Formats: sequence, C-alpha cells, structure tokens
Amino acid sequence: MTTASSSASANKDAPVHAPQNAFKHDKGVLLVGGASVQELVERSEGRPFYAYDRTVMSRTAERLRAALPERISLHYAMKANPMPEVVQHMASLTNGLDVASAAELKVALATGISPRDISFAGPGKSVEDIEAGVSAGVIMVIESATEAQRIAELARARDIRAPVALRVNPDFQLKASGMKMGGGAQPFGIDAEQIPALLTTLRHEPLDILGFHIFSGSQNLRAESIIDAQAKTLELASRLAMHLPDRLRWLNIGGGLGVPYFPGEKPLDVAPIMSALAERLEQHTVLLRDTEVVMELGRYLVGEAGVYICAVSDKKQSRGVTYLVTNGGLHHHLSVTGNFGQVIRKNYPVAIANRMDGDDLESVTIVGPLCTPLDLLANQMPLPRARIGDLVAVFVSGAYGYTASPHYFLSHPKPLEFCL
Ligand SMILES: *Cc1c(COP(=O)(O)O)cnc(C)c1O
Repeated sequence: MTTASSSASANKDAPVHAPQNAFKHDKGVLLVGGASVQELVERSEGRPFYAYDRTVMSRTAERLRAALPERISLHYAMKANPMPEVVQHMASLTNGLDVASAAELKVALATGISPRDISFAGPGKSVEDIEAGVSAGVIMVIESATEAQRIAELARARDIRAPVALRVNPDFQLKASGMKMGGGAQPFGIDAEQIPALLTTLRHEPLDILGFHIFSGSQNLRAESIIDAQAKTLELASRLAMHLPDRLRWLNIGGGLGVPYFPGEKPLDVAPIMSALAERLEQHTVLLRDTEVVMELGRYLVGEAGVYICAVSDKKQSRGVTYLVTNGGLHHHLSVTGNFGQVIRKNYPVAIANRMDGDDLESVTIVGPLCTPLDLLANQMPLPRARIGDLVAVFVSGAYGYTASPHYFLSHPKPLEFCL
C-alpha cells in the first residue's frame, strides 16, 4: 500500500497540490476507512458519494490536541459537516459542539454531550431556534440587540436565566483569511463599540451573560495572521470584560485554521500558533481566572477526512481538450467547482480513484452532467488516462461538501454519505 499523492504537474515549476496523506491505496484503488472505493460504489449502487474516515478525524484531532494549550476547550463547528455519525465521532474527540440551527442542535444533543458544552450562534435565529436553544439550556450566542430581547423575553416567560454570550464583531480583521467574518460592517455579532451600552441595557434582564464570542474569519493558512488575530482577540476581550456584570466565564476566540485545497497551498504548522497562544493566555491570567476559553474549528478537523467519489460516464474530445463527463458535479459538491465563495476558481486535488498508481498521464477537464459551464470539477489536470466507468476522487471534501451543495439543481439523484 502506498500513500495517495496528488497529480503530477506537466510544468515542473508550476505550483502543486499538497500531498494527500490522508488515504492509502491498494492495487491502485483508493481506500477509505479500510474499504476500497469500488466496494463503496457497490454499496451506493453506482450513486456518487462522500466517504468520511473516522481514523483521519481522530488523527487530526490528536495532533492538534498535542499542540493545543491544555486549558483550551476544543469545539467542533457542526456546519462544516453535520452528518450525525460524523458529529457523534467529533463529539468524542472534542469538548463541545457549535450549532447554528435548531436541526443542528438536535443532532448535537443526540450525541449526549452536556448542553453547557453546546453553543448556538448565527444571525437571524428564528423563534423556533431560540425556543429550542433556551429550552435545552445551551449557551445562546447573541448576534444583535433584538435577539438579546427575544431571548430575555422567553427566559422571563419561563422564569429562568438563560446562559448567553455576546458575539462581538471585532474592530480588527483576520488578515489573509479565506472568508472574513469580522471587522468593518458585518451581519455577524454586535460591533465591539456597541457592547458596553448593550450590556448596560441588559443589566436587569434574565440573562446569565457568561462572556463573548469573537470570530474573525475562516480558512486561514498563515500562522502569523492567526497569531495576530488571537492576540487582538484577547486584548479586545480584556477591554470588554470590564463591562460585564460578572467575571468573564466563557470566551470563544474563534478558530480560522485552514486546510490546503489548491496548488501551492501548504498545510498549516499549528505548533507556532499554539505556543504563541499559550504565551498570550499567560499574559491574561487575571482576566481568564474563571474563564473557559473555547476554540472552534470546523473544516480543519474534518476537511481532509472526506473524499467525494463519482464515476466517468463519458469521455470526449473538443478542439484539443479531453473531457471526462461524470455522474457527479456541482449539485453534489459546489465548492470543487469554485462556486462556494472562491474569487478565482482553482483545481482541488483530484485523482482517478481506481488508477492511483497510473503513470500514463493525460491532461483532462472533468465536468459534471449539469447543463451549465459552472459544472467544472477539474480544469486541464494531468491525470492517469481514464476510461468510462473509472472513478474520480475529489480530496479535501469532508467539510462544506454534501450540505453546502444545491442537490435539487437539475433534479439528478442526490449523493450518498458514508462514515467509515
Ligand atoms: C463557520 C463558522 C465556524 C467554522 O469555520 P471553519 O472554517 O469551518 O473552521 C466557526 N465559527 C463560526 C461562528 C462560524 O460561523
């Protein structure tokens, strides 16, 4: 068995994909969680599928844990991959779960973890969301003054004090982030400068205000940017904590750790980030004396543990381009096509899953069955020469895949999911 490496590049100096070390292959066939993808195709009766490997999730979490300061509570942000089996496994590897809807909350509670280890964030929570969260006793992360009032009203009606935290839109940005979710004008959270006045108005409400949630961005592969954001997050928390009615008891410092998707991107070295964080925490020992400090991660924990598999249904030439047409595509996996927040489309690491040892390369463009030029899985990639019936694997598909894709578009069958 050998480690799956991503495709070789025709041009020696062109940037290449980071090696795909998560999965092995046997006799040229990719293995996920001990099963060959061909076995999985039989199980799926030919339908495209996502396969997630628990062992890879465990390994990623263990490696991170080895570097993470001991006092940090690690949370899994469920929106990255809310498949119940995945969430159950992640619950066993982390200290808590972050949910963003009543349906996600249900899955989180079903794992059996304590409601106090669940936080519920997201702008525009519905009445049902708020009722579900407050009833369960999870930490409600307040995203606006209106939401604070709604939660307070419900708590009053039930004669309880609801545990809450305020989501702060920071007065800084996470530099070089794939997705900025803090700084400037944002629909997320409450501007840092509005927090003191809001805390004053909430003084007599039946809310147990535990602390803050400060999330500045996502998919970051630059250690210095993350270190910088963490330092600023702790400074901001320190400034705002003075206005809390009680001591700071809960602080979610966000996450933002990225995974390499595209040629030239390298895996993040977490060691320097975590040692810088440990130092920062030391500098704030008074502030953090009674505080649970949470780091929340989604894609970093599950992204590399997932692969998407579809089959080649046609192969054709058009004016010098060789096309592989597959039975899967944009409707199953929006982000591989570059349509999930990417500014410029780049190729994900892709392989021919039943020719992992193949060395007779040809440049191919892989598309899905949808009648739109957006349905592009790989653009001019050198891959082992493929035939109709061969399998295409898209790596780094464990996060923002299945549930982040428009399954109904063109009414083809939905993909399946396996957690192995
Ligand atoms: C989406 C989201 C996350 C997870 O981001 P990843 O890039 O998947 O780690 C964490 N926290 C909040 C508040 C989010 O909205």
